[in-house]
Parts: sequence; structure tokens; C-alpha cells
Amino acid sequence: MSRTVLNNATFYVGEELSPRTGSLVVENESISEIGEFVESRPDDVIIDLQGGYVMPGMMDAHCHLIYRDVADPYDIELRKSIPEATLDAVVNASVVLKAGFTTVRDVGSRGNIGVEIRNAVSRGDVPGPNIHPAGQILSGPGGLADFQPSHIFENRPYQHGLGVQVVGPDQARAAIRKQLKDGVEWIKVGVSGTGFNPLCPAERNGLSEIEFAAVMSEAKYQGVPVAAHAESAASVRAAAFYGAQTIEHGIYIDDESLELMVANNVTLSPTLSMYRAFAIRGSSMGIPSVIVDEHKRTHERHAQSIRMAFEAGVPIVAGGDAGLTHFPQGYCAEEVESYIEVIGMTPRQALSTITVNIARLLGVIDTVGTIDVGKRADLLALRVDPLVSPKALLDPKQKILVMHDGVVV
Ligand SMILES: [Zn+2]
Repeated sequence: MSRTVLNNATFYVGEELSPRTGSLVVENESISEIGEFVESRPDDVIIDLQGGYVMPGMMDAHCHLIYRDVADPYDIELRKSIPEATLDAVVNASVVLKAGFTTVRDVGSRGNIGVEIRNAVSRGDVPGPNIHPAGQILSGPGGLADFQPSHIFENRPYQHGLGVQVVGPDQARAAIRKQLKDGVEWIKVGVSGTGFNPLCPAERNGLSEIEFAAVMSEAKYQGVPVAAHAESAASVRAAAFYGAQTIEHGIYIDDESLELMVANNVTLSPTLSMYRAFAIRGSSMGIPSVIVDEHKRTHERHAQSIRMAFEAGVPIVAGGDAGLTHFPQGYCAEEVESYIEVIGMTPRQALSTITVNIARLLGVIDTVGTIDVGKRADLLALRVDPLVSPKALLDPKQKILVMHDGVVV
């Protein structure tokens, strides 16, 4: 099999993202050599990167592949049938890959679309990144994913939504076992509300503590990791106390929850850039004012929480939560710039949140997440240095190529 040789670039190598100029050789889907001078063979495929910069393929820790052209919960659920949402996920898988994302965690889907799109990509039926899916979001009546007002569906839970309603610890435990049967790799649970669902704001606890404790205990018993959507102070504290692998959003982190996050090795997935976009430019994005106002109200507190976590050494992973008309799939890359501007990370620290930190969280650090000999060739080549111009991560014109498993996509 012929090799592919990427020439004439700076490669950000290893967990430290150390710059190495020269060439990189791809053989059998993996990186076989990185060096200043690489001896080429007659049948090598040579790609001249013309002085560009190569980083590991980006990752998104908070993706919903079914989100497309969304402005509010109606667009996620009632506007689209399950077949239409499935086709959206197929389109989005290709879009995020071409945007430079070679691995994503899908943290909530309708039906079992997240799992099915992972399977379709693994089979090679459709193009897409490596996908680590959760299923429907475990949620209570009046909780995170209970988007429909009580007069809809005669007060019965909507079966085909982003969430699955659980009442009591037994239903919470049963939902986990059913999702494992259906092939999920993560459990996503809505512990609190969100500004995106005006019926259950950020400060409200969407599950009872006994239900959430049951989720955590069953997940631990089954050995499946948990992504806990937690915005209220009590929900963040509970997620940290019970040791969820990730806290999603984490708006109201306080000293007590921070201590628990550190002690229990909890990762924070703040989705800062989309929440910030809602607060700062939500109206021009066509987002309903009730949702914009909620995010304006909580934005400063959110930024403060992320700073607290970052300074305490909590691992932070970039998540997009993208798929809006004006914050489309791929905009997870805006996290990097937001962390530099708002949180005070160095560019290198910020770039780690969208690569190596996520690989570590997903347990795939031995195969992807850094540029090293022996790892799979998941790469993003840019015309400019992403450590100097993080905006380039969002700009299609600055991309030279995206490589996934050694193949240019
Ligand atoms: Zn989300």
C-alpha cells in the first residue's frame, strides 16, 4: 500500500503540542514517521503543505448531530419527523468532518439516531467522524427535555423527543439498561434546566435527587460514563458529589462543588461560545427573546464558574452544542478563541481542550488526540498558525486539508 507524505509544514506534536517542522508519513491509516528529512519512496503520494500548520483533528465533546437550522426547542422536536432528523444527522456528520472534527461525542438524540449514525459511519456507509453516542436525554416531568407545555399531548410525555421521561429511581435505572441494549456509549442526564427551555430555567432542578442518585448508581454498576447537564448550583453539586464523568454547562459552580469536582476527577464541558453567542448576539441569530434574556442573565456567572474550574485544575473540554442557523455545526471551534478571551487560557491550553483533553475523556488517547508516531492519522492542516490565529479554525478558507484515518476527506 502506498504511503502519504505531508511535506513542508509545522506539526504540533504530542500532548504538549510541540512544534516540529518537516514532514509526516502516513502508512496504513497511521502516522509512521515525523521528521525534518523523510526519505520518500517512488510510489509515495506527496502533499506539499506550503509552510502550513498541522494540528490533531479537532474533537467536539458536546455535539448533537440531529441539530440543524435550530432556533428553539420546536425546531428540534415537533418541526421534524424522526426520518428528517435522521437525514439531518447524516448531513451533519459529513459537515463536521469536513470542518475538521474527526471525533465527536453525541450527547443527546431522538429515537436512537446517535447510535445508528455511529454504526453507519463505522460501516463506511456514510462519511463522518468517530462518534461516541449517548441516547435520548434522561429527564423528568417538567425537567430539561420536557419541552412541551402541559396542554400538549394531554399531559402525556412526547415519545419522539430529545429526552426520555423517567419518574422515580426504577424508571431511571431501567432507561439506562434499555439504552445500553440499544448501543449507547454514554448516558446523558438532565439534572437541571436550561435557558434554552423556558419551561425549566437554569436554576431549576429537573430531576429529584433520588432519581439522579439512581442514574449515577446504575451507570456506575453497568460501567457506563455519565454526562450530566447541570446548571443550577444544587445540580452541579450533586453531579460532582456522585462523580459524573462530565458536567455539561456548569453555570453555578461554587466552592463546595468545585472541591467535589477536583476530588472526583470531574471534567467540565462548558459550551461557553454558544451560550455567549446567545447572550451577546442572540437576537441577530434569530433566537427568541425569552431564550436570549435567560442567557444574558447567566452569562457572567457562567464565565466566572469556568474560570474557577480552570484555575482549580479541572479538565475542560470544548463542546459546541451547535446546529443553529447562525451557529452551525462546526462552530465548536469558537470555544478555543472564547477560552483565550474570556477564561484567560493560553492558546496552547485552549487548543488542548478541543483535542487531547477530549481524547483523554473518551478513553481514546492511545489511538487519537495527538500527533505521534503510531497514532491514527486524524489531522487538520491550516494555512496559518492556530496558536496565533485561533479564528482560522472556523474559516474554511484557511483550511488546507482534513485527514481522517489517513484519508483526505
Ligand atoms: Zn446540548
